[in-house]
Amino acid sequence: MFKEQGDSESNIIEHDFFRRPEDEQKDFLLQTWCNQCMEVDLGMKNPKEFESAEKIWIEGECVKCGAQVVTEIVYEDE
Ligand SMILES: [Zn+2]
Repeated sequence: MFKEQGDSESNIIEHDFFRRPEDEQKDFLLQTWCNQCMEVDLGMKNPKEFESAEKIWIEGECVKCGAQVVTEIVYEDE
């Protein structure tokens, strides 16, 4: 497969988070880490899902303080 060098940052695709199954959505929205509150699992709102060449991640706002929280989605190789 053709792979571009050094320009992956500008190659970000936005996905519709709400296309995910409901139980997955719930897990992602609950399992968060907030840098501002320094606490896990406070939850996020306004989630947006992005994909680049290397990874997929979800950006949202901390339910408690409104700071940006990011959850990376890791797919394990089978
Ligand atoms: Zn917070």
